[in-house]
Amino acid sequence: MSDAGAAETLFERIIAGEIPADVVYQDDATFAFRDINPQARVHVLVVPRKRYRNVGELAEADPGLLSRVLLTARKVAEIEGISVSGYRVVFNTDADAGQTVFHVHAHVLGGEQLGMFGK
Ligand code: ADP
Repeated sequence: MSDAGAAETLFERIIAGEIPADVVYQDDATFAFRDINPQARVHVLVVPRKRYRNVGELAEADPGLLSRVLLTARKVAEIEGISVSGYRVVFNTDADAGQTVFHVHAHVLGGEQLGMFGK
């Protein structure tokens, strides 16, 4: 189910241009911009324009749109020159994963050797 009607998140305001962002790529369905607090040399967030709370809700409601998010992540990797060296795509869901913005977003991380998963 879409969160349409629930309180607006920071990312709707970024997509609307109300809050400035360093935009890497955008199309009719997705929007990609640099993370303000990068955890790697390349750290870009990819969001669907339409809001879902997390990746599971997006996958259930609109698998085609989830695919668009993943294709935009690949496009971002190409734009950033890390599609050959490698990159990681992360979706955080809820508290223990540290999700703070409840508009599903893929973190695209790369540009250096990344550490292992976990704490
Ligand atoms: P976490 O904050 O623990 O990383 P999320 O997975 O919800 O959890 O990620 C939200 C991301 O949004 C964070 O990486 C954060 O640095 C980023 N962020 C917050 N505000 C902005 C902003 N104004 N512009 C770009 N990125 C932002």
